[in-house]
Amino acid sequence: MRVLVTGAAGFLGSHLCDALLAAGHRVAGVDNLSTGKLANLAHLTGESRFELIEHDICQPFDFGRVDFVFNFASPASPVDYMRIGVETLLVGSAGTRNALEAARTYGAGFLHASTSECYGDPVEHPQSESYWGHVNPVGPRSVYDEAKRFSEALVMAYHRYYQVDTRLVRIFNTYGPRLQGSDGRVISNLMTQALHGEDLTIYGDGTQTRSFCYVSDEIDGILRLSRSEEHLPVNIGNPVEWTILECAQQILEVTGSSSKIRFEPLPQDDPVQRQPDISKAQRLLGWEPKIDLRTGLQLSLDYFRRSVERGERATPALSSPPQAG
Ligand code: UDP
Repeated sequence: MRVLVTGAAGFLGSHLCDALLAAGHRVAGVDNLSTGKLANLAHLTGESRFELIEHDICQPFDFGRVDFVFNFASPASPVDYMRIGVETLLVGSAGTRNALEAARTYGAGFLHASTSECYGDPVEHPQSESYWGHVNPVGPRSVYDEAKRFSEALVMAYHRYYQVDTRLVRIFNTYGPRLQGSDGRVISNLMTQALHGEDLTIYGDGTQTRSFCYVSDEIDGILRLSRSEEHLPVNIGNPVEWTILECAQQILEVTGSSSKIRFEPLPQDDPVQRQPDISKAQRLLGWEPKIDLRTGLQLSLDYFRRSVERGERATPALSSPPQAG
């Protein structure tokens, strides 16, 4: 098969390209490098089955016949999408439409990278696919959340009105090598800070929760979904839930760092809790994650060490509410 991957130079996009090449496919990767990095694809130089096309998918495109489209182009870390909010909304709308048009033109399969952010700051816990979410449509995170929710609606519309063979994965927090040390996410920031011997920044009191999935598990789930017939959203994430403080403790232990913890204001609308209900993925795809947080952090350690040696720094949150008093 010839497969198109948008967002190919990103964290998940680049791992997806590797997995598709390993499965024997030809891969055309598209990226405008707004948040993706060429370094994530450097090891594919000389791979004749891979081509990288530098293009912004918000502009219409036709890169020739494809059998399957994975639509992974979007800023994904809160620091990035708040910095380029309008671009984030556009890639989720115009960009997703252009990617869907490629699938429609060539009768290709289509899988869209959606997100647990569709559930917003969830009131239902854990989150199953039937939950409609609790999203602030005008808050600072809305540029991402509503882009992704619009994308889901557009993907379903292309399926219902144009019979495009679509799939929707709701990705929960994923980590591993190629997560940029400076992208401001919790694992990137805390690993980078721990390895520099700097204070670990914990936003709020650290009791908010996330459920962290190692990248190889996430990619395995996504590929299984791409081979399935399911058109409605499927959660792919690790259901083991950690407080941010517990996550920081794991990072201190894995890095052997003696960094201290420093509490900082919680960004507006930061979800209090997040945990996927993965029973649908278990039932439909026979999928569940295999790598626990401790093991995944150990598997990521060398990568973060190298990125710190290159001088990568943690990035503070962009939109903190004014401090009380
Ligand atoms: N967080 C933190 N310190 C950091 C970066 C993030 O305490 O240096 C918190 C953040 O406030 C959130 C959680 O960690 O509660 C996960 O944040 P991340 O940016 O990784 O992704 P999110 O799940 O919010 O999209």
